[in-house]
Amino acid sequence: CFCQVTGTLDDCACDVETIDSFNNKEIFPKLQKLLSSDYFRFYKVNLNNPCPFWTDHSQCGLKYCAVKPCTECIWHILVLLDVDYFPPQYSEAASQDIEECEKAEKLGAVDGSLSDETRQALQEWKKHDDESDRFCMLDDEDSPKSQYVDLLLNPERFTGYKGPEAWRIWNSIYEENCFKPYSVKRPLNPLASNSGLCVEKRAFFRLVSGLHASINTHLSARYLLDGKSRLWGHNVSEFQQRFDEELTEGEGPKRLRNLYFLYLIELRALAKILPYFERPAFHLYTGQRTQDNENKKLLLELLHVAKSFPLHFDETALFAGNKKEAMKLKEDFKMTFKNISRIMDCVECFKCRLWGKLQTQGLGTALKILFSERQIEAMPNMSNTNPSFQLSRQEIVSLFNAFGRISTSVRELENFRSLLSNLKQ
Ligand code: FAD
Repeated sequence: CFCQVTGTLDDCACDVETIDSFNNKEIFPKLQKLLSSDYFRFYKVNLNNPCPFWTDHSQCGLKYCAVKPCTECIWHILVLLDVDYFPPQYSEAASQDIEECEKAEKLGAVDGSLSDETRQALQEWKKHDDESDRFCMLDDEDSPKSQYVDLLLNPERFTGYKGPEAWRIWNSIYEENCFKPYSVKRPLNPLASNSGLCVEKRAFFRLVSGLHASINTHLSARYLLDGKSRLWGHNVSEFQQRFDEELTEGEGPKRLRNLYFLYLIELRALAKILPYFERPAFHLYTGQRTQDNENKKLLLELLHVAKSFPLHFDETALFAGNKKEAMKLKEDFKMTFKNISRIMDCVECFKCRLWGKLQTQGLGTALKILFSERQIEAMPNMSNTNPSFQLSRQEIVSLFNAFGRISTSVRELENFRSLLSNLKQ
């Protein structure tokens, strides 16, 4: 079967079958439960940043690119804080079913009109930041243009975003920001041993390609099968077009392997960050004490499971050479990754931009964790209230949701395998 990627992955001592079984049985169900909680479903993001690289892009998205306003989250936060406030323009916006070309400004009204008291209380959600080790550009959470988005209301799925606009984004990522001469029209194979790429640059390419494969798996798994009746479901032929060995001249299975590689990197980051969340001073704060405690318990369970994975990726193999060269390489790695996160502001489809931003930020957070080993190890000896390593709420939400996306993709591969075998019978 074309999507039956098997065997050991390059650059790590892990096989696909072990990941499938571990993810689908141990990780996926727990993660889904966690991600439906209030702490993780509300993500603060600025979808109105201008594209820093070109200006000739369209502002108007497609119907299914619209990001629905967050009807529940601000209401929920205000109730929690016992604040009697409901901005009129918000209730008006919430009553409209945004169907046509979206206007992201609509979403912005909510946060900009909060009372001082509410705004102050919302600060509780925030943590100190650790700018220096960032791999990713974070949106300014205080900007009035940043808004809470309910991720459960806006699932990642087929939007119809394609053609030259989408290609320009991917092309700019691969060609200019991926350490390699690459054109989507004439792709080189960066995994070939003669590609001249060191292990770090190869890993970088694989992470981006894995993210691309995951996005394309989602859009095939939640495809608009019938616009009239709004039927969404698996589109096997769409999936085949993208990943079939023959149809893609061998590229499809490699891309799926990159998806597994990305999975391993993010899983490893979760395993390493356990001490940060184990601190008694850490709370998944939403103001609902009982639920917050239960969620923290669930989160720790998940991280212990992640830690128990027997075949973790060994990140010490990266940036391990000559110290000066390794430092330079790490800086390049960071800068290039930051650039990719800025390119997300050029994605015209707002729904794709939302999930693209979230997933690059989540991966950036995973990389920050992987390369902050010393600070994390020092954590138990540090004062509980002021640890040497910090994650903002935005980083935490993006880290777990990004991993949730990859975990769902791995689960979807199994679904596609069984759909295909049913078709053959
Ligand atoms: P594309 O996927 O656009 O790929 C362009 C070229 O890149 C291919 O021809 C191939 O040569 C190469 N390529 C493809 N996959 C890989 C890979 N894994 N690794 C390396 N090279 C590869 N669409 C939706 O419907 N829903 C979404 O949520 C969504 N989110 C998106 C988020 C971002 C950030 C971007 C840039 C696009 C998003 N899209 C989304 C669009 C989607 O990814 C495709 O671009 C679109 O479906 C057109 O697909 P395509 O077959 O033309 O090839």
